Amino acid sequence: MKFYSINRKAPSATLREAVMNGLAPDGGLYMPERIPVIPKAFFNNISGMSIRDIAFVVADLMLGSDIDSSDIREIVNDTFSFDIPLVRIDKDIYSLELFHGPTLAFKDVGARFLARVISRLSSRSESRMVKVLLATSGDSGGAVAAGFKDVPGVELFILYPSERLSRMQLDRLNVPGSQVHAIEVLGTFDDCQRLVKEAFADVELRQEFDITSANSINICRLLPQMFYFFHAYASLVGSEGGFPDDVVVSVPSGNLGNLTAGLLAWRMGLPVTRFVVANNANDVTVNYLLSGKFIPRRAVRTVACAMDVGNPSNLSRILDLFGSDYGPLSRFVKGYSYTDEDILGSMSRTYSADSYLLDPHGAAALAALRDDLRPGEKGIFLATAHPSKFPRAVSDATGVEFKVKDIQDSAHRSTHPRISASYEALKKILMNENAQTVV
Ligand SMILES: *Cc1c(COP(=O)(O)O)cnc(C)c1O
Repeated sequence: MKFYSINRKAPSATLREAVMNGLAPDGGLYMPERIPVIPKAFFNNISGMSIRDIAFVVADLMLGSDIDSSDIREIVNDTFSFDIPLVRIDKDIYSLELFHGPTLAFKDVGARFLARVISRLSSRSESRMVKVLLATSGDSGGAVAAGFKDVPGVELFILYPSERLSRMQLDRLNVPGSQVHAIEVLGTFDDCQRLVKEAFADVELRQEFDITSANSINICRLLPQMFYFFHAYASLVGSEGGFPDDVVVSVPSGNLGNLTAGLLAWRMGLPVTRFVVANNANDVTVNYLLSGKFIPRRAVRTVACAMDVGNPSNLSRILDLFGSDYGPLSRFVKGYSYTDEDILGSMSRTYSADSYLLDPHGAAALAALRDDLRPGEKGIFLATAHPSKFPRAVSDATGVEFKVKDIQDSAHRSTHPRISASYEALKKILMNENAQTVV
C-alpha cells in the first residue's frame, strides 16, 4: 500500500515512510491510496469470526504487500490481548465496550498496533534502534506507554508538561523494566511538541537513530481502529441471529480518529446506514455538519475531557474521503452536541433505566444515538472509556463510587528525569539513556 498526503504536495509514501514520518513533508496527513473492498462472501460467515480473525483479514488487505502475512497475524493477535464485547443495553441499542485494554480506553488499540508495526518495520530494514517520541498532555501517554511495553527494538520517550498530569496519568507512564522513558518538561504541552519537532529536525541525531513519533495522527494508530467496527457488526449479526438492514453507529468525537476509521471501514464494505457523532460543548464538528462552516475554536473544559478539542485534526481526512463535498458527508454523518448536564443526565438515566454504567464519553455517544435512531434501525455506540476512569462524574450522575486505588500506588512512583524546555536538554537524554536529570 502506498499513502498520499492529503495536501497533495508531497510524493506518495511507503508504509514505512508514512509510519516513520507521521506527517508528510508538506504538512498533510497520510491516507491510503487505495481502499480495498472486502469480498461480500466475507460477511456471510462474519458472526463466527473472532476479532483477531477479522482484524487479520482487514489488515492483510491493507498492509499485506508491506508486511508478511505471518507478521500481520502476530501483530493483530498481540494487539487484541483483550476482549471488545458488544453489550445489548436496550431493545435496539448496543454498547461496543472498547475499554477492556491495559489503560481502559480505546486508545490502547491504536497504541498497541502502532508499537508492533514500528518494531516490525525497523527490524526488517536495519538493526538500528528506533527512538519513538511522544508529547502528551494526559491520557495518550499512558496508552502509548502500555502499548510499547515489551515491544523489541524500540525505545519510547514520553514528554509531558510539568505539573499538568493527574496522579493516575503519571502512574501510567511508569512501565518498569521496559524501554519506556517518561520525561518531565519544565514548560507547557506546546513546549513538549516543539521539542519533538526539534528532534525530528536534528540531522546529527537522525544519523545515529531512526526517529519517529507515536502521536495520534499516525496512520498506523488509525487503521487498527477500523477492525472493531467490523467486529461490532459481526457481534450484532450474532446477537440478532441474522443480518440487520439498517445499522447506525454513534461515535463520541474529539479529534475524529474513530469516525475516520469507521468511514474507512464503510468504504471497505461495512454495511452501515449512517454514522452519528457526538460532541460535548466543543461543538466545532457538529456545527460544521449542520452549517458547512468550519470554525475552529479554543477548547473549553467539560466532563467528557478527551473530547475537549477545538480544531479536530482528522476532519481534513474525512473531507478528503468525501472529495470535500459537504452534501453527501452531511447526509451520511449526523451530529449532536451536549452540555455537561446532558451528559450526566444520559449517564444517570441509563443507569436507572437499563442498569448500565457509562463513562461521560460513551454517555454522549449514547445520547446522540437515542436522538437519531429511527424505528426499525439497530444502533451501536462506542463506549470509549471505562466508567471507573471518571469516578467523580460517575458518582455525581449515579451515586456509584469507585475506590481510587492509585493514590496508594503513587508512593512507589519513580521520579522521571526533569528537563528545561530546551532541545539541548532533551538531546542529552536521547543520546545517552543513562542521563537522569538535565536541567
Ligand atoms: C480520545 C478519546 C475520544 C475522542 O476520540 P477521537 O478519535 O479523537 O475522536 C473519545 N473518548 C475517549 C475516552 C477518548 O480517550
